Amino acid sequence: MKFGEAPIQILKDFFHQKSPDKEREMPEYYAKTLALNNQFLGLDMFLILLLSFVFFHHIHLLPVVLFLILNVKIFYAGRMTMKVNLLLHTVVTIAWTGWYIWTFGWGSGGQHFLLCVVLLNFFAIYISPAMKVIYFFLLIIVRMLFYAYTLQNAPVLPLSSGFNVMFQTINSIVLFFSIAGSCIILSTNIQQAERKLLIANEELHKEAETDVLTGLPNRRSMIVEMQQFILENPKEQYCIAIADIDLFKRVNDTYGHNCGDYTLKTIAECFMKRAENYLVCRWGGEEFCFFFPRMNLDDAGLLMRNISIDVRELKLEFEEARFGITITAGVQENDFHSSLDKIIEEADEKLYIGKNSGRNCVIV
Ligand code: GH3
Ligand code: MG
Ligand code: MG
Repeated sequence: MKFGEAPIQILKDFFHQKSPDKEREMPEYYAKTLALNNQFLGLDMFLILLLSFVFFHHIHLLPVVLFLILNVKIFYAGRMTMKVNLLLHTVVTIAWTGWYIWTFGWGSGGQHFLLCVVLLNFFAIYISPAMKVIYFFLLIIVRMLFYAYTLQNAPVLPLSSGFNVMFQTINSIVLFFSIAGSCIILSTNIQQAERKLLIANEELHKEAETDVLTGLPNRRSMIVEMQQFILENPKEQYCIAIADIDLFKRVNDTYGHNCGDYTLKTIAECFMKRAENYLVCRWGGEEFCFFFPRMNLDDAGLLMRNISIDVRELKLEFEEARFGITITAGVQENDFHSSLDKIIEEADEKLYIGKNSGRNCVIV
Protein backbone atom coordinates (compact mmCIF):
# COMPACT_ATOMS: atom_id res chain seq x y z
CA MET A 1 0.00 0.00 0.00
CA LYS A 2 1.40 3.37 -1.02
CA PHE A 3 1.79 6.35 1.29
CA GLY A 4 -1.19 8.64 0.99
CA GLU A 5 -3.53 6.00 -0.45
CA ALA A 6 -7.21 6.89 -0.26
CA PRO A 7 -9.05 5.72 2.88
CA ILE A 8 -11.61 3.94 0.67
CA GLN A 9 -8.84 1.77 -0.78
CA ILE A 10 -7.52 1.03 2.70
CA LEU A 11 -11.00 -0.10 3.77
CA LYS A 12 -11.42 -2.17 0.59
CA ASP A 13 -8.12 -3.96 1.27
CA PHE A 14 -9.15 -4.49 4.87
CA PHE A 15 -12.47 -6.12 3.94
CA HIS A 16 -10.85 -8.26 1.23
CA GLN A 17 -8.52 -9.89 3.75
CA LYS A 18 -9.20 -13.55 4.25
CA SER A 19 -9.04 -14.94 7.74
CA PRO A 20 -8.01 -18.62 7.93
CA ASP A 21 -10.95 -21.04 7.70
CA LYS A 22 -10.04 -22.92 10.81
CA GLU A 23 -8.83 -21.54 14.10
CA ARG A 24 -5.54 -23.24 14.83
CA GLU A 25 -2.93 -22.58 17.46
CA MET A 26 -2.55 -18.93 18.40
CA PRO A 27 0.32 -17.31 16.46
CA GLU A 28 3.27 -16.67 18.75
CA TYR A 29 3.32 -12.91 18.21
CA TYR A 30 -0.35 -12.70 19.20
CA ALA A 31 0.07 -14.89 22.28
CA LYS A 32 2.95 -12.62 23.37
CA THR A 33 0.95 -9.42 22.76
CA LEU A 34 -2.06 -10.78 24.62
CA ALA A 35 0.10 -11.94 27.55
CA LEU A 36 1.78 -8.52 27.70
CA ASN A 37 -1.59 -6.74 27.74
CA ASN A 38 -2.90 -9.11 30.40
CA GLN A 39 0.15 -8.46 32.54
CA PHE A 40 0.00 -4.68 32.22
CA LEU A 41 -3.73 -4.65 32.95
CA GLY A 42 -3.02 -6.89 35.95
CA LEU A 43 -0.31 -4.47 37.11
CA ASP A 44 -2.69 -1.51 36.79
CA MET A 45 -5.39 -3.37 38.73
CA PHE A 46 -2.92 -4.36 41.41
CA LEU A 47 -1.60 -0.81 41.92
CA ILE A 48 -5.06 0.81 41.91
CA LEU A 49 -6.50 -1.80 44.30
CA LEU A 50 -3.50 -1.49 46.60
CA LEU A 51 -3.69 2.32 46.71
CA SER A 52 -7.45 2.36 47.26
CA PHE A 53 -7.01 -0.13 50.11
CA VAL A 54 -4.07 1.72 51.70
CA PHE A 55 -5.45 5.26 51.39
CA PHE A 56 -9.23 4.76 51.42
CA HIS A 57 -9.49 1.38 53.15
CA HIS A 58 -11.74 0.57 50.28
CA ILE A 59 -12.01 -3.02 49.20
CA HIS A 60 -14.55 -4.42 46.77
CA LEU A 61 -15.15 -8.01 45.74
CA LEU A 62 -15.65 -7.43 41.98
CA PRO A 63 -12.18 -6.02 41.08
CA VAL A 64 -10.51 -8.61 43.30
CA VAL A 65 -12.39 -11.38 41.47
CA LEU A 66 -11.47 -9.76 38.12
CA PHE A 67 -7.83 -9.60 39.18
CA LEU A 68 -7.93 -13.29 40.09
CA ILE A 69 -9.67 -14.23 36.82
CA LEU A 70 -7.01 -12.30 34.90
CA ASN A 71 -4.21 -14.16 36.66
CA VAL A 72 -5.86 -17.54 36.13
CA LYS A 73 -6.35 -16.54 32.48
CA ILE A 74 -2.66 -15.65 32.10
CA PHE A 75 -1.81 -19.09 33.49
CA TYR A 76 -4.20 -21.00 31.22
CA ALA A 77 -3.86 -18.78 28.11
CA GLY A 78 -1.99 -21.47 26.17
CA ARG A 79 -4.90 -23.91 26.46
CA MET A 80 -7.55 -21.53 25.18
CA THR A 81 -8.23 -20.64 21.57
CA MET A 82 -7.44 -17.16 20.36
CA LYS A 83 -11.09 -16.08 20.23
CA VAL A 84 -11.81 -17.26 23.79
CA ASN A 85 -8.65 -15.55 24.98
CA LEU A 86 -9.62 -12.27 23.36
CA LEU A 87 -13.20 -12.51 24.59
CA LEU A 88 -12.10 -13.14 28.16
CA HIS A 89 -9.62 -10.28 27.99
CA THR A 90 -12.39 -8.02 26.66
CA VAL A 91 -14.84 -9.03 29.38
CA VAL A 92 -12.26 -8.49 32.13
CA THR A 93 -11.23 -5.11 30.66
CA ILE A 94 -14.82 -3.89 30.29
CA ALA A 95 -15.75 -5.07 33.79
CA TRP A 96 -12.63 -3.48 35.25
CA THR A 97 -13.10 -0.12 33.47
CA GLY A 98 -16.78 -0.23 34.44
CA TRP A 99 -15.89 -0.76 38.08
CA TYR A 100 -13.14 1.86 37.85
CA ILE A 101 -15.30 4.72 36.59
CA TRP A 102 -18.17 3.68 38.86
CA THR A 103 -15.76 3.99 41.80
CA PHE A 104 -13.38 6.83 40.81
CA GLY A 105 -15.17 8.57 37.93
CA TRP A 106 -14.05 9.52 34.45
CA GLY A 107 -11.21 11.94 35.20
CA SER A 108 -8.30 9.63 36.03
CA GLY A 109 -8.08 7.64 32.80
CA GLY A 110 -9.02 4.09 33.82
CA GLN A 111 -11.32 3.77 30.79
CA HIS A 112 -8.41 4.08 28.34
CA PHE A 113 -7.56 0.39 28.74
CA LEU A 114 -10.35 -0.28 26.23
CA LEU A 115 -7.90 0.98 23.59
CA CYS A 116 -5.76 -2.11 24.14
CA VAL A 117 -8.75 -4.26 23.21
CA VAL A 118 -9.14 -2.28 19.97
CA LEU A 119 -5.54 -3.10 19.10
CA LEU A 120 -5.87 -6.78 20.03
CA ASN A 121 -9.13 -7.04 18.06
CA PHE A 122 -7.59 -5.83 14.81
CA PHE A 123 -4.57 -8.12 15.04
CA ALA A 124 -6.67 -11.24 15.74
CA ILE A 125 -6.18 -13.24 12.52
CA TYR A 126 -8.98 -15.76 13.10
CA ILE A 127 -11.67 -13.08 13.29
CA SER A 128 -13.24 -11.95 10.02
CA PRO A 129 -12.93 -8.27 9.00
CA ALA A 130 -16.69 -7.73 9.45
CA MET A 131 -16.59 -9.15 12.99
CA LYS A 132 -13.62 -6.94 13.82
CA VAL A 133 -15.59 -3.86 12.77
CA ILE A 134 -18.60 -4.95 14.84
CA TYR A 135 -16.32 -5.59 17.83
CA PHE A 136 -14.76 -2.17 17.31
CA PHE A 137 -18.10 -0.35 17.28
CA LEU A 138 -19.30 -2.28 20.32
CA LEU A 139 -16.22 -1.08 22.17
CA ILE A 140 -17.00 2.53 21.22
CA ILE A 141 -20.59 2.07 22.38
CA VAL A 142 -19.45 0.60 25.72
CA ARG A 143 -17.06 3.50 26.22
CA MET A 144 -19.77 6.07 25.41
CA LEU A 145 -22.25 4.35 27.72
CA PHE A 146 -19.70 4.51 30.52
CA TYR A 147 -19.21 8.18 29.80
CA ALA A 148 -22.98 8.81 29.78
CA TYR A 149 -23.21 7.05 33.14
CA THR A 150 -20.61 9.39 34.67
CA LEU A 151 -22.58 12.40 33.46
CA GLN A 152 -25.57 11.28 35.51
CA ASN A 153 -23.87 9.70 38.51
CA ALA A 154 -21.19 10.83 40.91
CA PRO A 155 -18.39 8.35 41.64
CA VAL A 156 -18.47 6.28 44.81
CA LEU A 157 -15.01 7.52 45.80
CA PRO A 158 -14.41 10.95 44.25
CA LEU A 159 -10.67 11.54 44.05
CA SER A 160 -9.01 14.68 45.39
CA SER A 161 -6.80 16.42 42.86
CA GLY A 162 -3.64 14.86 44.38
CA PHE A 163 -5.02 11.33 44.07
CA ASN A 164 -6.39 12.16 40.66
CA VAL A 165 -2.86 13.01 39.49
CA MET A 166 -1.50 9.83 41.10
CA PHE A 167 -4.13 7.54 39.53
CA GLN A 168 -3.90 9.34 36.19
CA THR A 169 -0.11 8.88 36.22
CA ILE A 170 -0.35 5.16 37.00
CA ASN A 171 -3.00 4.57 34.35
CA SER A 172 -1.15 6.59 31.71
CA ILE A 173 2.24 4.99 32.27
CA VAL A 174 0.90 1.43 32.39
CA LEU A 175 -1.34 2.01 29.36
CA PHE A 176 1.43 3.60 27.26
CA PHE A 177 3.85 0.82 28.13
CA SER A 178 1.20 -1.74 27.26
CA ILE A 179 0.58 -0.16 23.84
CA ALA A 180 4.29 0.42 23.16
CA GLY A 181 5.10 -3.19 24.11
CA SER A 182 2.34 -4.49 21.83
CA CYS A 183 3.60 -2.34 18.94
CA ILE A 184 7.17 -3.54 19.50
CA ILE A 185 6.10 -7.20 19.36
CA LEU A 186 3.83 -6.76 16.35
CA SER A 187 6.14 -4.55 14.29
CA THR A 188 9.14 -6.79 14.99
CA ASN A 189 7.09 -9.73 13.81
CA ILE A 190 6.05 -7.96 10.60
CA GLN A 191 9.65 -6.97 9.84
CA GLN A 192 10.94 -10.48 10.52
CA ALA A 193 8.20 -12.03 8.38
CA GLU A 194 9.01 -9.66 5.50
CA ARG A 195 12.72 -10.46 5.75
CA LYS A 196 12.05 -14.20 5.75
CA LEU A 197 9.75 -13.82 2.77
CA LEU A 198 12.36 -11.84 0.88
CA ILE A 199 15.05 -14.46 1.52
CA ALA A 200 12.68 -17.32 0.64
CA ASN A 201 11.73 -15.50 -2.58
CA GLU A 202 15.36 -15.03 -3.54
CA GLU A 203 16.05 -18.72 -2.90
CA LEU A 204 13.01 -19.76 -4.94
CA HIS A 205 14.11 -17.48 -7.75
CA LYS A 206 17.58 -18.98 -7.71
CA GLU A 207 16.19 -22.51 -7.62
CA ALA A 208 13.92 -21.77 -10.56
CA GLU A 209 16.95 -20.68 -12.58
CA THR A 210 19.29 -23.49 -11.61
CA ASP A 211 19.63 -27.10 -12.69
CA VAL A 212 19.37 -29.13 -9.49
CA LEU A 213 21.89 -31.85 -10.43
CA THR A 214 24.78 -29.80 -11.81
CA GLY A 215 24.14 -26.41 -10.22
CA LEU A 216 24.52 -24.80 -13.66
CA PRO A 217 21.90 -22.35 -14.93
CA ASN A 218 19.00 -24.13 -16.63
CA ARG A 219 17.84 -23.71 -20.21
CA ARG A 220 15.17 -21.12 -19.39
CA SER A 221 17.47 -18.76 -17.51
CA MET A 222 20.19 -19.14 -20.16
CA ILE A 223 17.77 -18.13 -22.91
CA VAL A 224 16.82 -15.04 -20.89
CA GLU A 225 20.52 -14.16 -20.43
CA MET A 226 21.28 -14.61 -24.15
CA GLN A 227 18.24 -12.60 -25.23
CA GLN A 228 19.18 -9.82 -22.84
CA PHE A 229 22.72 -9.65 -24.22
CA ILE A 230 21.45 -9.52 -27.79
CA LEU A 231 18.92 -6.84 -26.92
CA GLU A 232 21.47 -4.69 -25.14
CA ASN A 233 24.29 -5.28 -27.68
CA PRO A 234 22.65 -5.60 -31.11
CA LYS A 235 25.90 -4.84 -32.90
CA GLU A 236 28.09 -7.24 -30.92
CA GLN A 237 29.38 -10.53 -32.24
CA TYR A 238 28.58 -13.72 -30.34
CA CYS A 239 28.76 -17.49 -30.80
CA ILE A 240 26.70 -20.36 -29.48
CA ALA A 241 27.83 -23.95 -28.99
CA ILE A 242 25.83 -27.05 -28.21
CA ALA A 243 27.91 -29.82 -26.64
CA ASP A 244 26.79 -33.39 -26.02
CA ILE A 245 28.52 -36.11 -24.00
CA ASP A 246 29.61 -38.99 -26.23
CA LEU A 247 28.09 -42.41 -25.63
CA PHE A 248 26.76 -41.32 -22.26
CA LYS A 249 24.17 -44.06 -22.23
CA ARG A 250 27.04 -46.50 -21.97
CA VAL A 251 28.22 -44.85 -18.72
CA ASN A 252 24.78 -45.33 -17.23
CA ASP A 253 24.49 -48.89 -18.52
CA THR A 254 27.99 -49.93 -17.43
CA TYR A 255 28.44 -48.15 -14.10
CA GLY A 256 24.88 -47.25 -13.09
CA HIS A 257 22.73 -44.13 -13.08
CA ASN A 258 24.46 -42.67 -9.98
CA CYS A 259 27.76 -42.81 -11.81
CA GLY A 260 26.06 -41.06 -14.74
CA ASP A 261 24.92 -38.28 -12.37
CA TYR A 262 28.42 -38.02 -10.94
CA THR A 263 29.81 -37.68 -14.49
CA LEU A 264 27.36 -34.89 -15.32
CA LYS A 265 28.29 -33.02 -12.14
CA THR A 266 32.05 -33.43 -12.76
CA ILE A 267 31.77 -32.25 -16.35
CA ALA A 268 29.70 -29.26 -15.23
CA GLU A 269 32.47 -28.34 -12.74
CA CYS A 270 35.01 -28.66 -15.54
CA PHE A 271 32.93 -26.34 -17.77
CA MET A 272 32.85 -23.76 -15.01
CA LYS A 273 36.65 -23.60 -14.76
CA ARG A 274 37.05 -21.24 -17.72
CA ALA A 275 33.62 -19.69 -17.41
CA GLU A 276 34.81 -16.10 -16.97
CA ASN A 277 34.68 -15.77 -20.80
CA TYR A 278 31.36 -17.45 -21.50
CA LEU A 279 28.03 -18.60 -20.10
CA VAL A 280 27.22 -22.28 -19.88
CA CYS A 281 24.01 -24.06 -18.97
CA ARG A 282 22.58 -27.57 -18.85
CA TRP A 283 20.52 -27.58 -22.01
CA GLY A 284 18.81 -30.88 -21.15
CA GLY A 285 19.86 -34.50 -20.46
CA GLU A 286 23.58 -34.75 -21.29
CA GLU A 287 23.60 -31.67 -23.52
CA PHE A 288 25.10 -28.31 -22.60
CA CYS A 289 24.82 -24.92 -24.25
CA PHE A 290 27.65 -22.36 -24.33
CA PHE A 291 27.25 -18.65 -25.07
CA PHE A 292 30.41 -16.79 -26.12
CA PRO A 293 29.68 -13.05 -26.07
CA ARG A 294 31.87 -10.68 -28.12
CA MET A 295 33.68 -13.61 -29.79
CA ASN A 296 34.02 -14.59 -33.42
CA LEU A 297 33.85 -18.15 -34.69
CA ASP A 298 37.64 -18.66 -34.60
CA ASP A 299 37.98 -17.59 -30.95
CA ALA A 300 34.86 -19.43 -29.79
CA GLY A 301 35.87 -22.56 -31.72
CA LEU A 302 39.34 -22.51 -30.15
CA LEU A 303 37.89 -22.02 -26.67
CA MET A 304 35.39 -24.84 -27.23
CA ARG A 305 38.22 -27.14 -28.35
CA ASN A 306 40.18 -26.30 -25.19
CA ILE A 307 37.11 -27.05 -23.10
CA SER A 308 36.67 -30.41 -24.85
CA ILE A 309 40.37 -31.21 -24.19
CA ASP A 310 39.79 -30.42 -20.49
CA VAL A 311 36.91 -32.89 -20.49
CA ARG A 312 38.93 -35.57 -22.31
CA GLU A 313 41.69 -35.25 -19.70
CA LEU A 314 39.33 -35.72 -16.76
CA LYS A 315 40.05 -38.88 -14.79
CA LEU A 316 36.65 -39.94 -13.60
CA GLU A 317 36.49 -42.16 -10.52
CA PHE A 318 33.28 -43.44 -9.09
CA GLU A 319 33.38 -46.22 -6.52
CA GLU A 320 35.34 -49.00 -8.29
CA ALA A 321 34.96 -47.49 -11.76
CA ARG A 322 37.83 -45.62 -13.51
CA PHE A 323 36.98 -44.10 -16.88
CA GLY A 324 37.24 -41.14 -19.22
CA ILE A 325 34.72 -39.28 -21.32
CA THR A 326 34.61 -37.11 -24.44
CA ILE A 327 32.21 -34.54 -25.83
CA THR A 328 31.18 -33.46 -29.29
CA ALA A 329 30.19 -29.83 -29.97
CA GLY A 330 28.89 -27.66 -32.76
CA VAL A 331 29.70 -23.92 -32.73
CA GLN A 332 27.75 -21.31 -34.69
CA GLU A 333 28.40 -17.62 -35.14
CA ASN A 334 25.87 -14.80 -35.06
CA ASP A 335 25.16 -13.55 -38.62
CA PHE A 336 23.23 -10.42 -37.45
CA HIS A 337 20.01 -11.34 -39.23
CA SER A 338 19.05 -14.81 -38.00
CA SER A 339 17.09 -15.25 -34.78
CA LEU A 340 18.62 -16.72 -31.65
CA ASP A 341 16.62 -19.93 -32.20
CA LYS A 342 18.03 -20.23 -35.70
CA ILE A 343 21.65 -19.85 -34.48
CA ILE A 344 21.02 -22.52 -31.83
CA GLU A 345 19.49 -24.80 -34.46
CA GLU A 346 22.53 -24.38 -36.68
CA ALA A 347 24.90 -25.14 -33.76
CA ASP A 348 22.81 -28.26 -33.13
CA GLU A 349 23.11 -29.32 -36.78
CA LYS A 350 26.91 -28.98 -36.55
CA LEU A 351 26.84 -31.11 -33.41
CA TYR A 352 25.12 -33.90 -35.33
CA ILE A 353 27.67 -33.59 -38.11
CA GLY A 354 30.31 -34.12 -35.42
CA LYS A 355 28.44 -37.14 -34.03
CA ASN A 356 28.19 -38.66 -37.48
CA SER A 357 31.86 -38.08 -38.18
CA GLY A 358 33.05 -40.16 -35.23
CA ARG A 359 32.37 -37.93 -32.11
CA ASN A 360 35.01 -36.33 -29.83
CA CYS A 361 35.35 -33.25 -31.99
CA VAL A 362 34.31 -29.60 -32.28
CA ILE A 363 32.67 -28.52 -35.56
CA VAL A 364 32.87 -24.81 -36.37
P1 GH3 B 1 25.67 -39.98 -28.35
O1 GH3 B 1 27.15 -40.02 -28.38
O2 GH3 B 1 25.09 -40.27 -29.70
O3 GH3 B 1 25.15 -38.73 -27.80
O4 GH3 B 1 25.21 -41.17 -27.42
P2 GH3 B 1 24.57 -41.07 -26.01
O5 GH3 B 1 24.57 -42.44 -25.41
O6 GH3 B 1 25.23 -40.02 -25.23
O7 GH3 B 1 23.14 -40.57 -26.37
P3 GH3 B 1 21.72 -41.09 -26.02
O8 GH3 B 1 20.78 -40.02 -26.44
O9 GH3 B 1 21.50 -42.46 -26.63
O10 GH3 B 1 21.71 -41.27 -24.48
C1 GH3 B 1 21.69 -40.20 -23.62
C2 GH3 B 1 21.58 -40.73 -22.21
O11 GH3 B 1 21.71 -39.74 -21.25
C3 GH3 B 1 20.27 -41.43 -21.98
C4 GH3 B 1 19.81 -40.88 -20.65
O12 GH3 B 1 19.42 -41.90 -19.76
C5 GH3 B 1 21.03 -40.20 -20.12
N1 GH3 B 1 20.68 -39.12 -19.23
C6 GH3 B 1 19.99 -37.99 -19.53
N2 GH3 B 1 19.86 -37.24 -18.43
C7 GH3 B 1 20.48 -37.90 -17.41
C8 GH3 B 1 20.68 -37.63 -16.02
O13 GH3 B 1 20.26 -36.60 -15.49
N3 GH3 B 1 21.36 -38.53 -15.29
C9 GH3 B 1 21.86 -39.70 -15.84
N4 GH3 B 1 22.53 -40.52 -15.08
N5 GH3 B 1 21.65 -39.97 -17.14
C10 GH3 B 1 21.00 -39.11 -17.93
MG1 MG C 1 22.05 -36.20 -26.39
MG1 MG D 1 25.24 -38.06 -25.93
